[in-house]
Amino acid sequence: MNVLDCIIIGGGPSGLSASLTLGRARRNITLFDDGTNRNRVTQASHGFITRDGIKPQAFKEIALKELENYPSVSYFTATVTEIIKDIGNERFTVKTSTSQEFVSEKIILATGIQEIFTIPSIRKFYGKSLFSCPYCDGWEQKDKPLVVIAEKEEHVLHLTKLIYNWSQDLVVLTNGVQLSKEGKIELQKHNIKIISEKIKDLIGNDGYLQKIEFETGANNYKIGWICCPILLSPKSIC
Ligand SMILES: Cc1cc2nc3c(=O)[nH]c(=O)nc-3n(C[C@H](O)[C@H](O)[C@H](O)COP(=O)(O)OP(=O)(O)OC[C@H]3O[C@@H](n4cnc5c(N)ncnc54)[C@H](O)[C@@H]3O)c2cc1C
Repeated sequence: MNVLDCIIIGGGPSGLSASLTLGRARRNITLFDDGTNRNRVTQASHGFITRDGIKPQAFKEIALKELENYPSVSYFTATVTEIIKDIGNERFTVKTSTSQEFVSEKIILATGIQEIFTIPSIRKFYGKSLFSCPYCDGWEQKDKPLVVIAEKEEHVLHLTKLIYNWSQDLVVLTNGVQLSKEGKIELQKHNIKIISEKIKDLIGNDGYLQKIEFETGANNYKIGWICCPILLSPKSIC
């Protein structure tokens, strides 16, 4: 079996950049990607110079086109399901969802991370009308009345302080969590309203959030929405 110099798992910006550099270094490499990149839900990616506002898919297509210039780089659309290290020769055998096997001297894991939301319906709106990174999407929300959903005090304080640069018209939803007295004072100093009622559901159409319903029956309507993922965990390969 042909032994590759390197297998790169993940064709997001990290894996694509690694592929380009290794391709230019004349290494025999294979790149796998299964299209589950985090930002696939977003309409436009911002803040990367020369590509501000590009759709993630268009970014990927340009990158893959550039990789075609390097004959030692191969690309497969497949999920890597297993990596086995041979302790005798230190090589890696990689198995894929397409029942193929590849052997390589090195592996680069560029599989990205994933958000975990404690309110599952956030997923329906994430990337289209509910955002987590103000540097990525804050410009489009500037000076709008914004709702910030965050359940840990440290996240509430960090996120509101950050987002305050884009809009000072903020309401914080803590989904049932009570903030400390000091935390409340800090927010009230900046005229930021706190709603600590438990959220019942997020309502909207086609990815566009329109209102948030609370368990008490009350509703909250605002124009823009920012949320804080509770946990970011590395994606695992089974
Ligand atoms: C909603 C949203 C909006 C964002 N907006 C911006 C923005 O405007 N500007 C900005 O700079 N950043 C933005 N980001 C952040 C940006 O998307 C990430 O920083 C970037 O994608 C990280 O690149 P990565 O290559 O590490 O991971 P990813 O882009 O997540 O790529 C990982 C790749 O690995 C693949 N993969 C995972 N496991 C396997 C496997 N077992 N087999 C095969 N393939 C696998 C996936 O298919 C995926 O394509 C945004 C993120 C989100 C969620």
